[in-house]
Amino acid sequence: MSNKRDYYEILGLNRGADASEIKRAYREMAKKYHPDMNPDNKEAEQKFKECSEAYEVLKDAQKKDAYDRYGHDAFSQGQGGFGGFGGADMSDFADIFADFFGGFGGGSSRSESRRSNARKGEDILESIDISLKDAFTGVERKIDIEKQAVCDECHGTGCKAGSSPETCSYCKGRGKVRVQQGFFMFEQVCPHCHGEGQVIKNPCTKCRGKGLIYNKKTLDIKIPQGIEDGMKMRVSGEGSAGIKGGPNGDLYILVNVKNHPIFNREAENLYCTIPISFTAATLGGKINLTLINDEKEDIKIPQGTQTDTTFTLKGKGMPKLKSGGARGDLFVKVKTTTPTKLNQKQKDLLKEFAKISGETVPENPNFIDKVKEFLDI
Ligand SMILES: [Zn+2]
Ligand SMILES: [Zn+2]
Repeated sequence: MSNKRDYYEILGLNRGADASEIKRAYREMAKKYHPDMNPDNKEAEQKFKECSEAYEVLKDAQKKDAYDRYGHDAFSQGQGGFGGFGGADMSDFADIFADFFGGFGGGSSRSESRRSNARKGEDILESIDISLKDAFTGVERKIDIEKQAVCDECHGTGCKAGSSPETCSYCKGRGKVRVQQGFFMFEQVCPHCHGEGQVIKNPCTKCRGKGLIYNKKTLDIKIPQGIEDGMKMRVSGEGSAGIKGGPNGDLYILVNVKNHPIFNREAENLYCTIPISFTAATLGGKINLTLINDEKEDIKIPQGTQTDTTFTLKGKGMPKLKSGGARGDLFVKVKTTTPTKLNQKQKDLLKEFAKISGETVPENPNFIDKVKEFLDI
């Protein structure tokens, strides 16, 4: 018996869930736990593999039927079960992935590759840190990437000069083989040629038969005005080179916008909190505020302004992405500060003020003792 978790349970489904429910549940989980969204998170990686494995079985009517009847035992005989997600199985996993994410992930057009062997190069994910001010103005950055390029020795064929690939004898060029698993016969990617249908007997020494070599490249990246933290930019065709004449992968740049010491951002709006003296709040005054783009802006503080009052500066927030310069608003909240270091003259004046206002100034500073009389504590 297997102690593996139930595939339906992994996807958060009840037994008897239909194909569309299975697909929807998998799609949500795969998005949530995808390694690109959870870098260096082993737990997410494990969950991603687990849900991918469950989906791989449940999406296939034949395998699902076997699983519904015999559970994990349906796959636990023969070659040690179906569950592996290493090695050759990873190519099938890329297929599942391509179904949902429109080709993100290497080797995505794999099913087509079994006919032509051409496939799209791997996508690359890089990240870049910019300041909030950079996000305001837009910025150009140089970015160093390492990616796979076509081998200049063999021009991508993977073969030594003068030789060419041969048809795989194991699968007779089909790229797939039939395998007995438990009670059932399944088709699997040929372990000999990894689905290529061809093998290279004399590999190119520079790329060891891969047809690709690692290359460094520096790119100029233009980050547009108004970009937000966590947004991904796609640079088409700047991923790894395509395999056997396939199209290049894409480069994705994850933009991290660093926090600003004064301004907080929510979408296109900016928020800040400014301390003002209690005299300015009482008598009225003016704040000269330096905005995110170094412009100066006067904010009029009316007489009798209460602490936590928010002033709205229309159109002084962040530019909206792809909006032709339209900007959000800036919200300035004022906090009245209570002075802590007063000289004797200031104290006398305030006492005088209190007296005129009809307030009593406690002579005994130990206020809590006085309160205790009333509170019975
Ligand atoms: Zn080569
Ligand atoms: Zn083969």
